[in-house]
Amino acid sequence: MSSMEPLSRREVVHGALAVGALAAAAGASSRSTGAASPAILLGAMAHELPPLPYADTALDPVISAKTLSFHYGKHHKAYVDNLNGLLKDLPDLAALSLDDLIKKVAGDTSKAGVFNNAAQIWNHTFYWKSLSPKGGGKPTGKLLDKINTSFGDYDKFKEALATAAKTQFGSGWAWLVANGDKLEIVKTPNAETPMTQGKKCLLTIDVWEHAYYLDYQNKRPDYITAVIEKLLNWEFAAANLG
Ligand code: MN
Repeated sequence: MSSMEPLSRREVVHGALAVGALAAAAGASSRSTGAASPAILLGAMAHELPPLPYADTALDPVISAKTLSFHYGKHHKAYVDNLNGLLKDLPDLAALSLDDLIKKVAGDTSKAGVFNNAAQIWNHTFYWKSLSPKGGGKPTGKLLDKINTSFGDYDKFKEALATAAKTQFGSGWAWLVANGDKLEIVKTPNAETPMTQGKKCLLTIDVWEHAYYLDYQNKRPDYITAVIEKLLNWEFAAANLG
């Protein structure tokens, strides 16, 4: 390693994953340069499961600890593990940040597995931040002004978001995004995310069944209403709006 910086956790994890590649490269290059490039070590960092921003009991009773612990500890974690597995054989893609990776492989059907797992990591991290035990109610300031000019008023915004979340057929997401000066409601199927379309994400609601089924069974509309009324993190949305 040429860097004098202390290793971050990601680099340590990555370094362990790269031992095989380094050994192979050192063997292959011993007759030419005699040394492996540090870029081999720095090129591919393992993606990590970001910590939940609150305890798994924090959103109860809207979202129970049981739902949250399965959703985060099993589903979100599985996307991270799957992506790291897929990237072992794709060093060019493994060198990219999560955001750059998602944008790079979006629309490339030969990389659908990479896209789906990478985008689901991003979407879930964004979803946890979109919720807060102190959330819900009405935003204020610039964000409320934008909601009023974009949707008519706050009640019309709520109705548009709820309708998108309820009518997303099958698995997917409902989003509040900024598209230039205007706010929009967008729904996306499966792992699709508006961040690949040049739109700035402000908030999201996960409407995959795993997000609500343990608590609400088939009553997706009840989950959506409760999340909008009690959990939406308007401080996060305002920070995203900038
Ligand atoms: Mn989910």
